Amino acid sequence: MSKIKKLLVANRGEIALRIMKTAKQMGITTVAVYSEADRNSLHVKFADEAVLLGPPPSNQSYLLSDKIIDACKKLQVDAIHPGYGFLSENAGFAKKVSDAGIIFVGPSPEAIEVMGSKLAAKNAVSKYGIPMVPGTDEAITDIPAAKVKALEIGYPILIKASAGGGGKGMRIVASEEEFEEQMQRAISEAESAFGDGAVFIEKYITSPRHIEIQVIGDQQGNVVYLFERECSVQRRHQKVIEEAPSAVVSPEMRKAMGEAAVKVAKACDYYGAGTVEFIVDEKLNFYFLEMNTRLQVEHPVTEMITGKDLVKEQIHVAEGHSLPFSQDDLSINGHSIEVRVYAEDPRNNFLPDIGNLKTYIRPQGPGIRVDDGFEQGMDIPIYYDPMISKLIVHDENREKAIQKMVSAIDDYQITGIETTLSFCRFVLEHEAFISGDFDTKFVEKYFSPEKLDIKWTEEEMELLAGLAVEMYERSKNQLIPIGNENGGKRTNWKNRLI
Ligand code: ADP
Ligand code: ADP
Ligand code: MG
Repeated sequence: MSKIKKLLVANRGEIALRIMKTAKQMGITTVAVYSEADRNSLHVKFADEAVLLGPPPSNQSYLLSDKIIDACKKLQVDAIHPGYGFLSENAGFAKKVSDAGIIFVGPSPEAIEVMGSKLAAKNAVSKYGIPMVPGTDEAITDIPAAKVKALEIGYPILIKASAGGGGKGMRIVASEEEFEEQMQRAISEAESAFGDGAVFIEKYITSPRHIEIQVIGDQQGNVVYLFERECSVQRRHQKVIEEAPSAVVSPEMRKAMGEAAVKVAKACDYYGAGTVEFIVDEKLNFYFLEMNTRLQVEHPVTEMITGKDLVKEQIHVAEGHSLPFSQDDLSINGHSIEVRVYAEDPRNNFLPDIGNLKTYIRPQGPGIRVDDGFEQGMDIPIYYDPMISKLIVHDENREKAIQKMVSAIDDYQITGIETTLSFCRFVLEHEAFISGDFDTKFVEKYFSPEKLDIKWTEEEMELLAGLAVEMYERSKNQLIPIGNENGGKRTNWKNRLI
């Protein structure tokens, strides 16, 4: 057992702040790292100590593993939490950290290495009877032989980069004629993007859901699952809205998926928090996709329904403690939804809209959580992921959680930049989302920018007309200056109309 007294968070933005908040509650001293672009960031202000890493680009700051380890030595830091992205899934970094006598809050370098390669991961779990998408289990070197295999599997197929991540490195091949060309492209893309040209093929599931299982293990070999997260609302293979539990998972299916995920974790002697991702077909068969060996962006929905603080549990097991709960101690309470709020313009092909947060007022209330790293007046830097925050709600059932999310979105006031909030509201109010009957094609099937423009119902139009008359009368009599009824405060039109 080695008690962590000082923790360095090798990350930025909302996740750095979220990790430090838990560390502080646990009485742990926190150290932030930052780039020149993040000097005034909340994670820097919140930390007890902060270290400047360098200029804004990640490869001159947040990815400088040696500089981060040196800072730990100087400041007598005894553990590093890598967050997600950046160095979090870098086995070499995890090894350097432990070789320097510092605790890495995450799994072993060996587990990161195996699961970092989609092919190695499939091989590692193949002995355990985990259902797998039909495909090749080795990197493709012989294109004609792969073509024969593709015919056997049946088109459409998906070419995937073994080292891919973040929704990148995938190509759909619709028919045999396209096979060779797409394969050449996939290999050269994988080489340039991931420095590893290994690609393989999988059957392309045409109407899939993405459902993943949160697991956590300790260094004594105990592993439990903390149920599923439904992540099927995606754009370009990247999640935008996540919820727990999933509307389609029955208790039997949950148990089967949970137990499969625990086997995947045990296949690589996993400890720490991790996520086993599955793809689910129309008949609700599930297949192993990959394992992410880190805290996931969408972990808060799991925290909301289980009442567990995943960062606290990560720190505990990193200190060498056994898990304080067993599978039977865990249960699902209510329903939680998260939307990722990006500085992107949904009316303009989701182009990043970087700038200054002129107004930034978070929604508040019971069961509403905002994980962010910004404040009013701050700039969103262009160098990193354009995610501003994650808005998370919890309520007793799915219907109430959806309602709560819609009103939380309405209460979230952001001006100065465009955000994806209006797009998220569109999804939440769509009948396919409400019914629970949707797949990863939701966005391409149902969304177009015109859908964001307000359509008034007849009843609302009448109310609006009435309001206009009333305002005209008032201004005529000059009783109250227009727009100043609330002492200059912004009028909430929606509330006034209903
Ligand atoms: P999650 O898997 O946690 O739901 P994402 O897939 O969006 O979330 O990935 C989390 C972060 O890590 C994102 O910032 C993403 O861009 C980054 N990321 C994940 N895998 C890779 C990778 N192989 N290469 C580069 N960035 C990655
Ligand atoms: P990444 O490392 O980029 O997260 P994943 O293997 O987890 O890669 O896949 C990301 C997303 O791509 C999935 O959530 C799903 O939407 C889609 N996808 C992956 N494999 C398949 C498949 N065989 N058929 C259909 N869609 C897939
Ligand atoms: Mg994935």
